[in-house]
Amino acid sequence: MTIVDAVAEPLPRAVIDLAALRHNVAHLTRLIAPAETMLAVKADAYGHGLLPIAEAGLQAGATSLAVLEIPAGLLLRHAGVTVPLLAWLHGQDTDWRAGIEADIELGVSAAWQLDAIAAAGADRPAVVHLKVDTGLSRNGATREEWPGLVESAVDLQRRGVVRIRAAWSHLADASITADAAALAEFRAAVAEAEALGARFEALHLAASSAGIRMPEARFSFVRFGIAAYGFSPFDDSTGAELGLIPVMRLEAPVTEVHVGGTARARLGIGYADGVPTLGIAKTSVLLNGRRCPVVEVAADSMLVDAGRSRVELGDTAILFGPGTAGEPTAEQYADWAETIADEMVTGVAARVPRVYVG
Ligand SMILES: *Cc1c(COP(=O)(O)O)cnc(C)c1O
Repeated sequence: MTIVDAVAEPLPRAVIDLAALRHNVAHLTRLIAPAETMLAVKADAYGHGLLPIAEAGLQAGATSLAVLEIPAGLLLRHAGVTVPLLAWLHGQDTDWRAGIEADIELGVSAAWQLDAIAAAGADRPAVVHLKVDTGLSRNGATREEWPGLVESAVDLQRRGVVRIRAAWSHLADASITADAAALAEFRAAVAEAEALGARFEALHLAASSAGIRMPEARFSFVRFGIAAYGFSPFDDSTGAELGLIPVMRLEAPVTEVHVGGTARARLGIGYADGVPTLGIAKTSVLLNGRRCPVVEVAADSMLVDAGRSRVELGDTAILFGPGTAGEPTAEQYADWAETIADEMVTGVAARVPRVYVG
């Protein structure tokens, strides 16, 4: 974390409210009980910061973490996190052995991954979650490949190379009928695997969307991402309507004031920090209690129209936050910029200091 000093060049900052994160995780975990929460902390916890979010999420009731790739799992292990971790994005340079020996559970969707696990020479069996594609076509064995993948895994389990823990898939969240069809496909794939000799301790399918609205898809646990950060996975509702609180507040200092008929303030944040350049004509930010339209976004600054309000150097503008002070939420900002809240928060550049409260 960067220390923000009053005499230093004023910096934008992303204030991360860990109390809000804990509220969301506890709220979602109650909703899905007796299923459990696997908190998705990929992409540096959607831009919020891996370690503080992991710790707060576990305090609030998450029982495992989804990390995407093995190196993020190793970071968590080195920080002392002992709960189950699931990594499923593997490439040619994946260090399988390090992952297995750090007890990182591995999402496996292709035969070459089982081959790599067998060749890794780790000192213990790899714990694997076999992934079947149920229609999303993103990183899962097709229904044609599935029986072969299951048979290879069962064989490796007999030889003590892997321990099969789970079967899983990912829903497209395209429509209720598409998700229902994918759920039926998942059940069929699980039955097929069991007929081939696989036994699963856990099944998992749902992310935020199905976790909230599709109780029959919750199985052993729900992999909650965006909802835990305070945003709705649905187009027809906001996070607030689901009882969620946005965790990130993005702030920037006023670095220049131009006084005229109407005041214009330059803020020390720009597209290099992750501010979208699309939809500027619709966008406004909160400055001294008032919404100020955005005039221009440059690389490391942006210009807003402060109207007749009094603005001084060092005042703080809020680009987005929980919305409780009159600032836009990231969901609103995302609408203006024709994107989604996930991209707004994950896109905040690494150089913007994260400051933790709550
Ligand atoms: C990102 C991700 C999630 C979380 O998705 P949200 O829609 O953000 O809740 C769950 N599962 C997998 C496989 C993911 O990649």
